[in-house]
Amino acid sequence: MPDNQLEIGKAILSLVVGDITRQDVEAIVNAANTSLMGGGGVDGAIHRAGGPSILEECKRIREESGRCPTGQAVITGGGNLKARFVIHAVGPVWHGGGANEATVLAGAYRNSLQLAAGAGVLSVAFPSISTGAYGYPVALASAIALTTVKDFLRQDSSITEVRFVLFDEHTYDVYRDALKKVGTQLKP
Ligand code: ADP
Repeated sequence: MPDNQLEIGKAILSLVVGDITRQDVEAIVNAANTSLMGGGGVDGAIHRAGGPSILEECKRIREESGRCPTGQAVITGGGNLKARFVIHAVGPVWHGGGANEATVLAGAYRNSLQLAAGAGVLSVAFPSISTGAYGYPVALASAIALTTVKDFLRQDSSITEVRFVLFDEHTYDVYRDALKKVGTQLKP
């Protein structure tokens, strides 16, 4: 296995450097905010690439259900993207680590995977949630992200591919180190 991949049961967890809007997977995850009304970073990129139908759906969800709480996620269609679905997950803002950030971040990943599995999705791509504008240290966030996905894949057999699409080499390198540790934990 190359050092950017891990086999978990029938599933593959992999890391790539790239742009999440261009991934050929069934669902991509957005690092959204509680308003669901779009924003900067990966959120802006997804709405730009996917076209207006995604925001229209987000507006309908807002009208029906209000803001999306931190740690939760909602699902919309993928508009013009290759992906059929966009899962809008709300990660925590980093406040120094004492404000339940780790639990909330794990929840954002777990709830996204649950929505994907519920929609019958087999392949999912994640960005590095919360480590941009929300300031979560990448070394801490990557360990939580990968451990949460690993734990989910070990108990859910329907998803066969989870790909982390990291936007820059530094973030990729930190995730690769974290993946090594998660791989070691997997060994009996
Ligand atoms: P948050 O507010 O949750 O921190 P950001 O969008 O600010 O979300 O950043 C999350 C991560 O997504 C950062 O590592 C950022 O570099 C990355 N990112 C930005 N644009 C893209 C993109 N098109 N594809 C993948 N990752 C992206």
